[in-house]
Amino acid sequence: VSETVGISACLCGQSVRYDGKHCLMDNAPSTDQRFMICPEVMGGLSTPRAAAEIVGGDGWDVWQGHAKVITRDGSDVTQAFKQGALLALQSLQDAQIKTVWLKSKSPSCGSGQIYDGSFQGVLKQGDGVTTALLRQHGIAVVSV
Ligand code: SF4
Repeated sequence: VSETVGISACLCGQSVRYDGKHCLMDNAPSTDQRFMICPEVMGGLSTPRAAAEIVGGDGWDVWQGHAKVITRDGSDVTQAFKQGALLALQSLQDAQIKTVWLKSKSPSCGSGQIYDGSFQGVLKQGDGVTTALLRQHGIAVVSV
C-alpha cells in the first residue's frame, strides 16, 4: 500500500502558478496517490497574480511577525499567504497526510531556498510560509 502524498498543484499540471503557467514533473504520483494543494489559491489569491517574495526573513519569520510577503508592485499579501497555509495544513491533517512534495523556491512552497525579496532572482536560505507551518506541525516536506 502506497502512502498518499500531498503535492503542489502546479507540479501536476494545474495552472495555478502566479504567472498562470504550470511546471510539470516527470515522476508525479498517480492520481489516486496524490492530494493537491495550492496554498496561494486557497488563501484567496487570483491567478494570474503578481509575483511575491518574502521580505525581512523567511516563512518561519513570517509566522513570528518578523517578515512580510510583498508583491513586486508593493502590496502586502502576508495575510493571504498565512490563511492559505493554514487551510493547506488543515486539509492535509484532515486527510492524514504526512508527506508533501512542494515546489522549490516559492514564497509559499519553497524549502531550504527561497528568493530574497529583492525581485532580482537572488536566492537566500529559508523556507516558504506554508513549508514552515507544515514542518512545525510534523509534516515532512520534500522539495521538488
Ligand atoms: Fe501554488 Fe505552491 Fe505552486 Fe505557488 S508553488 S502555485 S503556492 S502550489
